[in-house]
Amino acid sequence: MPRLEEYRALVGADTLEELYLLARPLRGRSVLHVNSTAVGGGVAEILSRMVPLLHELEIPTRWEVVKGGEDFYAVTKKFHNALHGDAQEVSPRDYQVYEDTLDQNLAQMDLGSDIVFIHDPQPAALVKKRQALKNRWLWRCHIDLSRPSPSVWEFLKPYVEQYDACAVSAPSFAQKLAIPQIMIPPSIDPLSDKNRELEPEQIAAILDRLHIPADKPLVTQVSRFDRLKDPLGVIAAFQKARAHVDARLLLVGGTADDDPEGAQVLQEVRQQAAGDPDILVLCLPPTSHLEINAIQRASAVIMQKSLREGFGLTVTEALWKGKPVIAGAAGGIPLQITHKFSGVLVHSVDGAAYWLKQLLSEPDFARRLGENGREHVRQNFLLTRHLRDALMLFHFAQDPSREMVRLG
Ligand code: UDP
Repeated sequence: MPRLEEYRALVGADTLEELYLLARPLRGRSVLHVNSTAVGGGVAEILSRMVPLLHELEIPTRWEVVKGGEDFYAVTKKFHNALHGDAQEVSPRDYQVYEDTLDQNLAQMDLGSDIVFIHDPQPAALVKKRQALKNRWLWRCHIDLSRPSPSVWEFLKPYVEQYDACAVSAPSFAQKLAIPQIMIPPSIDPLSDKNRELEPEQIAAILDRLHIPADKPLVTQVSRFDRLKDPLGVIAAFQKARAHVDARLLLVGGTADDDPEGAQVLQEVRQQAAGDPDILVLCLPPTSHLEINAIQRASAVIMQKSLREGFGLTVTEALWKGKPVIAGAAGGIPLQITHKFSGVLVHSVDGAAYWLKQLLSEPDFARRLGENGREHVRQNFLLTRHLRDALMLFHFAQDPSREMVRLG
């Protein structure tokens, strides 16, 4: 795995010096991250890189995953959809399953680190233990909280308010809360297998191995098979655009341990794509980072037609590769894409079809969007910026009453 020094050429000396400076007073402070899946989805993607780098900065960091049965993940997926603003029926029994599962986790988990960093609603209620532990607790919400379903939010809010602070990805996700809220957008690692540069021969060999033909321009969406990522809308848009342009659509997805709906959505996608030789549906294991990197790099256009989205790391990944991206104007995506400057934002199947046709027929314009997108990611959404924000949050958490942090 790359060490911090290897980022120097990409992000500059100042960025690294700032990280060393911020980390020095935190040396030896222990941190625990808790989320709900070790692989699959954006949070696992971020933690797999953030944790080793915190270690390198001599901040001993653990990463634990809450354990639950199918019923728990069915409930937390309802919470996830409801917080994204989707109508969901959550029963009193569902809330009970949630509470019981977290009580079982509480009995087994060592939560004694100096700073406990909890990600998303699945493990949020672990904060019950904080009174006894007297350490610092931070809640990191990766979901678009701008229009949460009131009942689920009312259930979670008393837990959230027991934390020292809450971090969200975009200003519009802020809620009325009795605790400080901090904006920290996510990031990608430019040196990981998912994002590092690849030679054209490597890309060709990977596509060959995956049986992806290179005879037509590729239009790709990489996403968990999730209704909020609108894979059926992507197929509909592609089929409309194809009346004007020749291309091949690739829907690449996988499953995440905490997402019980994936298999059902994948089946619906396969049915919709059946019989269309220009649509490929690829289900890859969650460790397929190089494969996804190669597919994104081989694509002419990347789609991310999300109806709701926390941030959309797949957008960041595609922009970093200089790709023109057509994305739903949802959640954190507009933080990444300025319409017609660093990508295009769409609100409908027709909009997506229109822009697909445009970008495939105007390669110079498409290339400029990609270049602008890459520069925007370089300045805002790389791992080193995220690490700096995390370190500043740890400084704040050490003593929330301090108005100034001395680094000398
Ligand atoms: N991803 C993956 N394999 C898949 C689908 C997604 O490795 O089959 C990765 C994708 O490259 C990205 C992350 O999972 O790094 C998804 O993050 P995003 O924020 O786009 O969506 P989330 O799944 O967290 O809602």
